[in-house]
Amino acid sequence: MEIIIPEEKITKVLSADICVIGGSCTGVFAAVRAARLGAKVILVEKANRFGGVATCGLVGMWHSLFDMECQKQIIGGLTYEMLDRLDKRGAVSGFRTPAESLEYGIRFNSEELTLELDELVLEHENIRFFLNTSFSRVIGEETGRVDAVILENKSGRFAVKADVFVDASGDALLCRGAGLPLWKSDKPQPPTSCARFSNWNTLGQHDLKELVEKYRSELPDLPCGYFWSMDIPGTPDMMFAGTRVLNCDCSDGEAISNAEVTARRQIRALMDMYRREFPENRLSLNSLPSAVGIREGDHITSCGKLCGDELLAGTYFDDTIGHGTYPVDVHGTDDDSITFWRLSGDKFTYHAQKLVCQERWLPEGEILPHYNIPLSSLIPADAVNVISAGRMIDADRKAFGAVRVMVNLNQCGEAAGVAAWLALHRQCSISQTDHNEVRQLLNNGSSCIIEPKETSK
Ligand SMILES: Cc1cc2nc3c(=O)[nH]c(=O)nc-3n(C[C@H](O)[C@H](O)[C@H](O)COP(=O)(O)OP(=O)(O)OC[C@H]3O[C@@H](n4cnc5c(N)ncnc54)[C@H](O)[C@@H]3O)c2cc1C
Repeated sequence: MEIIIPEEKITKVLSADICVIGGSCTGVFAAVRAARLGAKVILVEKANRFGGVATCGLVGMWHSLFDMECQKQIIGGLTYEMLDRLDKRGAVSGFRTPAESLEYGIRFNSEELTLELDELVLEHENIRFFLNTSFSRVIGEETGRVDAVILENKSGRFAVKADVFVDASGDALLCRGAGLPLWKSDKPQPPTSCARFSNWNTLGQHDLKELVEKYRSELPDLPCGYFWSMDIPGTPDMMFAGTRVLNCDCSDGEAISNAEVTARRQIRALMDMYRREFPENRLSLNSLPSAVGIREGDHITSCGKLCGDELLAGTYFDDTIGHGTYPVDVHGTDDDSITFWRLSGDKFTYHAQKLVCQERWLPEGEILPHYNIPLSSLIPADAVNVISAGRMIDADRKAFGAVRVMVNLNQCGEAAGVAAWLALHRQCSISQTDHNEVRQLLNNGSSCIIEPKETSK
C-alpha cells in the first residue's frame, strides 16, 4: 500500500544565516558560538527544553576538563562557562581542579542545567529558537546541499531557509534528509533510561547486583545493565542508571517506542524488588526521563573517520578541535558486559557487574595524557552546507566508546558552530573551511585547543 502526499505550498518561510537542528548542549553550543561571531541563528528542538540526554535523559554527569597528568586544562569554552554558571547556583560538584573531577566526574542537577541553558540562549538576541518543534524534511535539489528545512509544531508546518545547517539531532536526521551516506554499527551501544529517586538512603547498605540476581526469576524485567548512580548536587536525591534495552536499533521509530516502555518496566521491577526486600523503606521514584537515553544511532560517513587505534595512540590531527580523557567505554549490545580502556593504560571488562578481565593495554608505567578529536570526523563527505555535531560522529566502535560523552560532544558542537560561521563568512563549502581558522576562533572563544605534542597525521 502506498500513500502519495499531495504537493503543499508552505507560506511561512523564515530565514537565518545558520540553522541548528537539535538543542542538546551540542546544538545549543553550536548556536551560541555562531551567534557570538555575529550570525543570525535559528535553533530547533523537538522537546520542551534544551539539553538532550543531559536534561531530558536525566544524565547529570560530565567528565574531567584536565589531562591525565593533571597538568593541563584541556577542555574550556562553553563547557567551562556552563559549569561556572551552575556553580553559582550550587548545582554542580567540583570541576576546577583535576583532583575534584578525575575520579568521580562532574555531577550536576539536570533541572538547573535546563534553566541555565534557557538563560544562555536568551542572552543572544540573534538566536531565534523553537521548542516543541520537530524537523521533518530537507528541501534541496543537490545531495549534500540543504536549501531549507521543513519544521512542524502546533502552528503547523513551516520552513527555514539558511546558508548553513548544523545537524545536532543525535540521529543524523538532517544528513539523512540531505541524501548524505550514513552507516550503522553492527554492535551499537544499547539505550538506557535513568531514574531519579528520593530517600535512597533508607535502603541502607546492600549489594544491588546480588539482590537483582535473587529476584531475577520472580521479576524477569529487572535490569541487566552496568549499574551506576550519582548524588545530585544541592538535593538529597540520587540518579540511577542501569537499565539496558538489548539489541535495539535506536534509529528505528518503533524500536525506540518499545525501548521506552521496556526500560521503564525495568525501573518498575527495581521498585518492586526494593518494596519486597525492604518493606520499611521510604524510597520513592521522583522522576523518569522524558526520553530514553540513546547512546548510539546512525553515524555519518565523513571526510575523516576517527579510529580507535589513532585515538588510543594520542594521534594529533592538523584539524584537532577537541580533546578528551574519558575512557573507551563500550556497553555490550546483547549482554550485560561493559569494557573500559582507561587512559591510565588499564583495560577492565565486567560481566554481571563482576570484574572478569583486567589487563594493560599500554606498557607498564605509561599513560595517555589525552586524545584528540578531528573536525573532519564531523563533516559529511559530499556535504556542501551541512556539518554534524554529536553522537552521529564518524568514529569506529572503539573511538566512539570514548568520544560519545558530553564534554567531548560539547566541543564538537562549538567547532561545528564556528565552522558553519566560517563557511558563511568566507562563502565557501563546509569542507573548504580553513581548520586553522576554526581552531583560532575556538581558542579566541576560550576553548582549549592545544598544540601538537606528537606526530601530525
Ligand atoms: C544512560 C546514558 C548515560 C550516559 N552517561 C553519560 C555520562 O555519564 N556522561 C556523559 O558525558 N555522557 C554520557 N552518556 C552519553 C551522552 O549522554 C550522549 O552521547 C550525548 O548526550 C549525545 O549528545 P547529542 O547531542 O549527540 O544527542 P542528544 O543528547 O540525544 O541530543 C539530540 C537532540 O536533538 C533533538 N532532536 C532529535 N530529533 C529532532 C527533530 N526531529 N527535530 C528537532 N530536534 C530533534 C533531541 O530532542 C535532542 O535534544 C550517556 C548516555 C546515556 C544514554
